[in-house]
Formats: sequence, C-alpha cells, structure tokens
Amino acid sequence: MPLEAFIRRMPKVELHVHLEGSIRPQTLLTLAQRNNVAIPAHSVAELRDWYQFTDFAHFIEIYMAICNCLRTPDDFELIATEFLRGQAQQNIQYSEVIFTPYTHHEHVSMDEQLAAINRARAWAETNLGVRMALAPDISRQRRPIDHSLIVADWALANRDNGIIALGLGGPEIDNPPELFREAFDRIHAAGLPSLPHAGETVGPASIWGALNALHAVRIGHGVRCLEDPQLVAYLREKQIPLDVSPTSNVCLGVASSLAEHPLPQLIAEGLFVTINSDDPPMFGTTLTDEYLHIAQTFDFGLSLIKRLVVNGIRASLLPEDARRSLENQFQAQFTQLQNALKL
Ligand SMILES: [Zn+2]
Repeated sequence: MPLEAFIRRMPKVELHVHLEGSIRPQTLLTLAQRNNVAIPAHSVAELRDWYQFTDFAHFIEIYMAICNCLRTPDDFELIATEFLRGQAQQNIQYSEVIFTPYTHHEHVSMDEQLAAINRARAWAETNLGVRMALAPDISRQRRPIDHSLIVADWALANRDNGIIALGLGGPEIDNPPELFREAFDRIHAAGLPSLPHAGETVGPASIWGALNALHAVRIGHGVRCLEDPQLVAYLREKQIPLDVSPTSNVCLGVASSLAEHPLPQLIAEGLFVTINSDDPPMFGTTLTDEYLHIAQTFDFGLSLIKRLVVNGIRASLLPEDARRSLENQFQAQFTQLQNALKL
C-alpha cells in the first residue's frame, strides 16, 4: 500500500503520449456535437465500447474519426489545456507530446494548431507548474509521401517554438521506415532529433529501419526487438531508449495480457526502458495507472519504479543541464515522499 501511495504522488515525466489520443471522453462528445461531426458514440459509456479495438487497423480507423472532430484553433487549445491539467494531477512535471499536424491542416493550419497548443503550454507552465515539449509526427499511411517533407520543414522552422523532435506514427505494416528517409535525413542534417514508432506491429526489421534510415534517437514502443538478439545487443550497447506503453500493447494485441508483456525481459536485457501511456483514455489508462499496474503485475519494488522514472528524465530531449537539475529535484522529492510514507 505505501508503494501505491508513492506511485500516485511521485514526480513523473512522460515521453510518449499523443495529444489527439488523450482527448477526454466528455470533451470528445462536446467537440463532435459543436462541430457537427457524427461519431458512433453518444455517451462516455458508448465511447468506452467504441474503444474496443480488434487490431491496429481498427485502432487507426477510430483514431482518424477522433481527429476529424478537431475543427478550430480553440479545439486544440482546449484539448491541450485539459491534457496538461491531467498531467499536473498525476504530478507529471514534464511531457514530450506527440501530435499529427498534417492530419488536421485542412481545417486548422499547422501554424494555427501550434499557436493554440503553445497558448495552453504557456498557461500550464505559469498556472500548473508543468512543462511540455512537442514532437509532431508524420503519418506513415498518408500518400503521397511528399507530405512528410512539408511536415519536416515545418518542424524545423518551429524548433524555437516548442518543437523538439519529429516523429513517425501510424500503421507500420506496408509503410516501412525507409519510405520516409528523405524527411528524416533533412531534420537530421539540421540537428532535430528523430522519434519514430517502430517494433510494435512489425518486428525487428522496422526497428533496424528506424535506426538506420531515420536516425532514431529513441524508439516508440520497440518491444519486438526481443525477436532479434543482435538488435537487442545493439540497443543495449548504444543505450537507445524504448518508449514502452504496456497497456497500449495489450489493447492492440502486441502482448496477449499484461502478465505476458515483455517489460521484465526488456529490463533484464539491460535495455533503456521508459514507461508511457500512449493514448490514455483510448486504452482506459493513465501514466499513474501504468506504474501501478506494472508494480503489481511484476512485483516491481520502489527502487525499480524510481529507476524507471529517472530513465524518463535521462531519455528526454531536455538539454543536459536541465536533465541533471530535474533529476536532482526528483531525487529530493522521492526522499521527501519516502519519509512522509515511511517507505
Ligand atoms: Zn504512440
């Protein structure tokens, strides 16, 4: 029980969470109604039923329907504000947040999206004391591929405006990393980090592609690296962080249950692992829940939980001095909390 209280109150960071996938159920219903967008759910309970995914393709179909409910800059400011309130409630003091700007650009320009999200970011920093940095991503199923260059150039142009990296999301099957080489070469040459999803619905080939063709500095998911011992050795040697999202993996069939999730094995292999919620309301979870579930399911103790939190700081894209100072602050807060809970 004291560990549960510790997890609820401990300071956290989150590196892999999607803004569109974090829209509160009630807010989604409001947005659909006020923008006259039909969705097949009219209550929070019906939304919960709608969020029962048969596979990754089904998940993407629902994800796109959710994205379609975002029609004005105010919508973006609202969902970002609510997202940051939720992070503050969980004591998530710093988040690196993914969103997919090109998906919405016909309704709200990418610049307007960013400006709206940045208004929420500034508000939350002042009023809630939580910080956020943005990692827009390229949608890998969209054709023609040229849009990836538009997003890459736009991300580069806005790197002093809250953007810290470029990601790649969407279905891995039939959309290998190599297709997006040019966009990622471009950001790499300019020094903007690359954060592709890989190794979730496709195995090691996708992770190798993310590393070799896209210059990945972290891998979104990456849990299927375990299928290739050479890849495991490479990831361990280079200490390339994996953004692991256990409940997401269960909901999308990457793991058959939480008990069967490879997290303990990834840690035992000496891999650099962080814990994340991915699309929390769509998977009925929160980052706090993720820590609670793994502590309980795998019997993880206090020191491992703290190590996973610190991994999040170390794997973040904060400048090195900021990482060090955040880690010092977290260690002091851990000690204070342990004393308070007599842990
Ligand atoms: Zn993701």
